[in-house]
Amino acid sequence: MNGERTIPQLSLTDVYHLLRGHHGPQKWWPADTPFEVMVGAILVQRTTWANTRRAIENLKLADTLSPGAIRDTQEEELQKLIRPSGFFRSKARKLRALCEFLGERYGDSLEAMSERPDGELREELLSIYGVGDETADDIMLYAFGRPLFVVDAYTRRIFGRLGLVDRKLKYTDIQSAFQDSIPRDVALYNEYHGLIVVHGNSTCKTRPVCSECPLDTACPKVGV
Ligand code: SF4
Repeated sequence: MNGERTIPQLSLTDVYHLLRGHHGPQKWWPADTPFEVMVGAILVQRTTWANTRRAIENLKLADTLSPGAIRDTQEEELQKLIRPSGFFRSKARKLRALCEFLGERYGDSLEAMSERPDGELREELLSIYGVGDETADDIMLYAFGRPLFVVDAYTRRIFGRLGLVDRKLKYTDIQSAFQDSIPRDVALYNEYHGLIVVHGNSTCKTRPVCSECPLDTACPKVGV
């Protein structure tokens, strides 16, 4: 005996159940329509959901939450509406690029877009200015119901600290680690990502609050 504590190794499924037991169902993504998911997926880049929600509320109040309305809104006005989400100049350009794509390619019909198979749909999304892997998968999962696991900064931080994922790996390698370990199920991926967001916001923050974490006794706290 060397007095060291033996830490039980959790599986990715164990983590899901512990987080769900602790935080409860999340019903993520908070949006009324697939287009609202798309807009939120762009506005949430490099900011919190609280800031994103304020920007979306502004768009709703100004009756601007549709592809046509965004295309028709003056650049400065659009920037003003989404200002709470930060990086508002580049995000206004990204929203406009998304809406121009939707208009030109699908006549603003997300139903028509949803008929694309997974691979083509993801490639199309990635071809739009401002849409990278995470934003594309937010849209794939929450707007189009495709079973792709979303990897964000919270995912890297929480699972890196748990020693279950090398946080420096490429996006697609981390995504494969999840998709190879847990069933390809839209409802499960939907809920799991919501739990990761709430846990990263409330508990496994930059300065983690491990004493309030349901994973505490099984967490090696890598890099903490
Ligand atoms: S125990 Fe601490 S470091 Fe580990 S997941 Fe929980 S909050 Fe994060």
